[in-house]
Amino acid sequence: MLRPCWDERLAAAAVRREGEQASRRRRRVEQVEGRRVRVEGRELLNFCSNDYLGLAASPAGVAALQQAAAQHGLGSAGSALVCGHHALHARFEREAAEWLAYERALFLPSGYQANLMVLQGLLTAGDLCVQDKLNHACLIDGARLAGAELRRYRHADTEAALRQLQARPEALALLASDSVFSMDGDLAPLRALAGIAADEQALLLIDEAHGVGVFGPEGRGACAAAGLSAQQVPVLTVPLGKAFGAQGALVLGEAALIDHLLQSARPYLFSTAALPALAAALSANLHSLRQADDRREQLQQRVRHFREGAKRRGLPVLDSTSPIQPLLLGANARALALAAALEERGYWVSAIRPPSVPTGQARLRITLTVQHRHADIDGLLDALAASLDTLGTGP
Ligand SMILES: *Cc1c(COP(=O)(O)O)cnc(C)c1O
Repeated sequence: MLRPCWDERLAAAAVRREGEQASRRRRRVEQVEGRRVRVEGRELLNFCSNDYLGLAASPAGVAALQQAAAQHGLGSAGSALVCGHHALHARFEREAAEWLAYERALFLPSGYQANLMVLQGLLTAGDLCVQDKLNHACLIDGARLAGAELRRYRHADTEAALRQLQARPEALALLASDSVFSMDGDLAPLRALAGIAADEQALLLIDEAHGVGVFGPEGRGACAAAGLSAQQVPVLTVPLGKAFGAQGALVLGEAALIDHLLQSARPYLFSTAALPALAAALSANLHSLRQADDRREQLQQRVRHFREGAKRRGLPVLDSTSPIQPLLLGANARALALAAALEERGYWVSAIRPPSVPTGQARLRITLTVQHRHADIDGLLDALAASLDTLGTGP
């Protein structure tokens, strides 16, 4: 037997990507000023940022980071269980637990890692993990890493979720969903999921990446907005790269569950704790985010303005009440062509293609933030309508 060769593997994958118009390129952002960005020398209006409340540029957050870095330096110098757990991390965890009304919170460097941690730390071979088909990749990957049996139900189909749980009544079970779906913008049927989980004695895990800051009193998220308590949603993950305008993630739950995770979850144990200064910035941004009810209202106004304008112009936007407003296009080539046409007109919206979305469902994922003005949105909608006209109905 001749061992196969890596060059061939890479070349074949590259050819396949090109053929499917699936290859991607990182765009180089040179400067950000609110909604305006300079990308590779060109000024564009940014309609693909997840910085919904504009907190990425928060003066209080930046000052907290600078001050903490000046005092404590950069790296945490170890994993949390060796020497990396800093008083600034502990403070942010306490503040977050109080804000979301959970017994305990655990802070770690990314949302991807947080979901891997929860699923790998809780599940083992033979357990059942039931998930929405459109859940974020890291929830899927976490169940795989744990070696659990993963069943994925049709998007938002709570009856299918119930059937999948009932099929294995003997197994420890976990039900997981995004609260706001990252590529579709719609909200999960959260109350129904909580009901099913309670009836079936499955542990419910909700990922609030796009819910916190945007929905609920004090920006506590889509679960809080739906009136769900910590008892009804026993595990909450909160990535902090979106409305928090920074980076990192929280895992929230009862003390026993959080302790189990921090004792045993490999993605936590074997990774360096985040910069202490990051936790200081997040404390400052949490303070701003809680008090941002006026910004949340402005954000909803932007969403309504966009949707009314899109409807008037007959644009095929998906049904979403969140700041994520996708325009479904189908073929990869079509999404790429429309994104390029918009960029020509000064608007930055990225084309989202598989594997981020199912095959044949390429789209433009438009995101709105408080920094957009109504005139920006009108301009984008006009540019969309004109570009779609030029594009025609094929391919
Ligand atoms: C962005 C996102 C994550 C990953 O969080 P990072 O902090 O970017 O690693 C997880 N879940 C959902 C739903 C997300 O949108």
